Amino acid sequence: MIGQVYKVQTDTFVVKSEDKIVLCNSRGLIKKCGDGVLVGDIVTVENGVITKVHQRKNRFIRPSVCNVDLIVVLISPEPKPDFYLVDKVLVNAIKENVDVLFVVNKTDFDDSLYQQVVDEYKHLEIDIVKISAKTKAGVEELKQRLKGKLSVFVGQSAVGKTSLVNSMFDLDLKTGELSGIGRGKHTTTRSEIFENQDIKVVDSPGFAVIDAEVTAEEFPLYYEEYFEVSNDCRFRGCRHIDEPNCKVKELVEKGFFSKSRYDRYVEIYLELQKRRKIYERN
Ligand code: GDP
Ligand code: ZN
Repeated sequence: MIGQVYKVQTDTFVVKSEDKIVLCNSRGLIKKCGDGVLVGDIVTVENGVITKVHQRKNRFIRPSVCNVDLIVVLISPEPKPDFYLVDKVLVNAIKENVDVLFVVNKTDFDDSLYQQVVDEYKHLEIDIVKISAKTKAGVEELKQRLKGKLSVFVGQSAVGKTSLVNSMFDLDLKTGELSGIGRGKHTTTRSEIFENQDIKVVDSPGFAVIDAEVTAEEFPLYYEEYFEVSNDCRFRGCRHIDEPNCKVKELVEKGFFSKSRYDRYVEIYLELQKRRKIYERN
């Protein structure tokens, strides 16, 4: 049979195929395919043993999951949105070729963030929906968009991830408080797939971002709006950092591209470069 890995427990795998759930092991396979078997993997199972891991559409390191269809970025007016995290998520999503959906939560409390997000990302084709996990406004529409897909929810602590999952599925998971100690109650870093009403969500609490492997060299390619104008930069392979006659910088100065998104771009680029230098030294 062919199924999808929903959960990994040391050397046991929970695989779901249609409506059947089977516990499997993978015997020697893990060693053979290096990366092992991940949550999200499509696998062939014969007599309780995983005999084949099918080719992955994409693969993320943190949370460790693959074959993701949609990354849902939750933002809220309170805590204030951290667009630096949002930009990082976008870079990783574009690298791994996964669609992104922005969800602006807590609209019952403050409705102005939606327009701010639209403005900040107007050069990208990203869907944005506004909801209130509290009043359930917009939640049904959001559910329709998640049907039949494997989604990962990311966002800062206290943006409402737990509340949203509760409100979508009529559950009663404990929510954290804005002023609370954070996510101490979730000590697990293992992800697993939670499924309800044909909606599959990777349950990996505590992840603000989703990370793939991105290098400083390739990083500029993942800003699609910059890439589109980079032919007009003086240097081929311009990183839009300190090169002269850079079209991206010109458009930032003219106010066509968001200055704040550009500043975060430089910050993330320098961070990736620093990371590489650390690797080189070791
Ligand atoms: P998480 O850390 O992202 O899982 O966030 P939680 O779901 O624990 O929510 C953090 C806080 O925000 C809790 O006090 C929730 O009651 C509150 N909250 C979540 N969604 C909404 C909403 O739509 N409106 C309002 N006003 N508060 C919300
Ligand atoms: Zn440039």
